[in-house]
Amino acid sequence: MFFLFGTGKSTLKNQYRLTNCECPVCHQQNTMIAGTIAKYAHFFFIPVIPTSRLSIAVCSSCNSKFVLENKQFTPEMEQSFESQQKVNPNSRPVWHGCGCFIILLAIIFLIGSLIIGWFKSKDEPEKPIDKRKAMLKKDLEKVTSKPTLETDSTSFYIKECFDIMLEGKVNSKEVDYYSKVNGDKILILIDIDDLKKVQSSSRYHLIEYVTECLNMHEGYHDKQLYIGVDGMWNMVLVSTPNGSDTSGKFADEELLYPFYDESQNMIEAVEIKAEKKKK
Ligand SMILES: [Zn+2]
Repeated sequence: MFFLFGTGKSTLKNQYRLTNCECPVCHQQNTMIAGTIAKYAHFFFIPVIPTSRLSIAVCSSCNSKFVLENKQFTPEMEQSFESQQKVNPNSRPVWHGCGCFIILLAIIFLIGSLIIGWFKSKDEPEKPIDKRKAMLKKDLEKVTSKPTLETDSTSFYIKECFDIMLEGKVNSKEVDYYSKVNGDKILILIDIDDLKKVQSSSRYHLIEYVTECLNMHEGYHDKQLYIGVDGMWNMVLVSTPNGSDTSGKFADEELLYPFYDESQNMIEAVEIKAEKKKK
């Protein structure tokens, strides 16, 4: 695979007009410009290490080329070139060696993750996957911006309040709701993608809005509220009877998991719903 390894070259920034010397071919005075080409080895087109340098002078009159390393510079040319380089030196671009750095980082990362993995497998017995996590994820997918009184009355009430309270702060069409009952527990999930405009320090008010709003309706006084506010990327607010996380940035969604405990009650709740529909 010829393209795995190879060499590349780039012309360095500074170029010098050679003074007090004539072109060995056309004998014109001060017509030559000299510069340096730096070569590097690349791996998949990422420069890995710098290799050689070539300094070349070109005559602007006759277009002849002279290579310093091939001893084609006259002593005058060499002197002029070197004195100008001393004043205004050409340094090699850092990226010519960046591959070395990337490879080093990759090796450190690989070794690091191997060590961490080894310690983890030694010390911790593997955690069983929490089914409640998957249940929460499924419920988070059920949120809708248009909850109805018939299918999800809790969400419907909260939306009514939020539409008024969040006016001007958040686009109400981008707020999604879902709620679920399990015995005397109610899970309320609110998904707001456009939370940027609400400062994280004042986001906890959203939890207050929910509780105030439900206080206006009957049937919520003796319920345990499990409230989760989901932002664009992660849960930003969580409020539950067992603990809350309302700093407004990264909330621990595991606090919501106890909602899913005692699954028999959940079946009961579903049956009640079905009966109501028959009527
Ligand atoms: Zn010339």
